[in-house]
Amino acid sequence: MTATMLVDLDHLRANPVYDAGRCSIGFHPLHQYPAIAAYGILLIWPRLRLVAIGLLTHMALDGLDCFWMQYDT
Ligand SMILES: [Zn+2]
Repeated sequence: MTATMLVDLDHLRANPVYDAGRCSIGFHPLHQYPAIAAYGILLIWPRLRLVAIGLLTHMALDGLDCFWMQYDT
C-alpha cells in the first residue's frame, strides 16, 4: 500500500494541504485523468491489484469532494 501513500504526497505539495473547497481531481499531477486511467490498467496485474484499488479508492474519495462541491453554496 506504499504507492497509495505516495499519491498523498501530491496533497502535501499543495498549499494548503487539504482544502475542502478545492477539487483535487485534475489539480495534482497524480490526480489527472490519464493517471487515473493508468491505475485502472494496474488492476490487470494481480500483484498490483491491491495498490490499484487503493489508488482508485483515493481518487473516488477525492472525486466525491468535487461532486459535493457542485451542490455547495
Ligand atoms: Zn488525493
